[in-house]
Amino acid sequence: MSNNANDLTPLLENIETEARKSIGRGKVADYIPALARVPRDRFGMAVCAVDGTEFVTGDADSCFSIQSISKVFTLELALKMVGSAALWKRVGREPSGNAFNSLVQLESEQGLPRNPFINAGALVVTDAITARTVSPVLALLGSVRRYAARQDIYIDEEVARSEAEHGHRNAAIAHLLKAQGNLNAKVEDVLSVYYRQCAIAMSCRDVARAFLPLAAGGRQPRTGEKLMTPLRAKRINSLLLTCGLYDGVGNFAFRVGIPAKSGVGGGIAAVIPGKYAICVWSPELDELGNSLAGTRALELFARKTRLSIF
Ligand code: GLU
Repeated sequence: MSNNANDLTPLLENIETEARKSIGRGKVADYIPALARVPRDRFGMAVCAVDGTEFVTGDADSCFSIQSISKVFTLELALKMVGSAALWKRVGREPSGNAFNSLVQLESEQGLPRNPFINAGALVVTDAITARTVSPVLALLGSVRRYAARQDIYIDEEVARSEAEHGHRNAAIAHLLKAQGNLNAKVEDVLSVYYRQCAIAMSCRDVARAFLPLAAGGRQPRTGEKLMTPLRAKRINSLLLTCGLYDGVGNFAFRVGIPAKSGVGGGIAAVIPGKYAICVWSPELDELGNSLAGTRALELFARKTRLSIF
């Protein structure tokens, strides 16, 4: 961390103080009991710059459950494994305008999920990986570790078990997809991989580092490794902008103006192409499932730095 005019630390500390004022107004995700046990007053934020500098505040090095943020990693892996033409035949690229775990839209649209970030679309993406390799979880973990440039990223098996025990809605979505002919592997296998991908534990610093390739045209500046093409990075960023925050995506674009992906663990990962990857975490959620203080922090960051993609 540098101690100069570009040091974002004082700004982040200031944002934390402001954003923490939202804590107490939201609700932690209690439909996964293991997530309901996380202290609701946690707040962390990490900003990684494409030049390798990093700035953090609060609980930026505490691990949390990345939940739906994992869908970005599975999408990238599935595109690599099965190719974009095959994958985009099975899942769309439009905002859903519906709850992330809705069954109604899937039924009325004959098993073609609107996008890879709602649960139905994510299950199709996970299926593409599950049907392709004997150890999908290891393949995914290996890829996340490369993205984050950190070898000890792990799965919180208690969170995965807790979701599996209460995951009736996701099971219903998976069965519906199977009935509609859009799931190749066994329903139980896809669900087991899905719950474990969602239960990956990472800190804000890890997630921001793992999203850096999306800010840096596909390259991981920390290792110099080229992880995806600039075109793929651009396309994933577009999907984050249009589909990354469920049916709250329009309001988020209005307030923040930065492509991002949220998870019900309270994390939000965001990308300012050419500049920064950011991750903020605070467990209390708004009524659409997005971190309340996290959204506020990103709004303040965009406003105070005058950075957004618009
Ligand atoms: N594992 C969660 C679920 O399927 C992920 C949802 C999210 O993070 O938005 O319900």
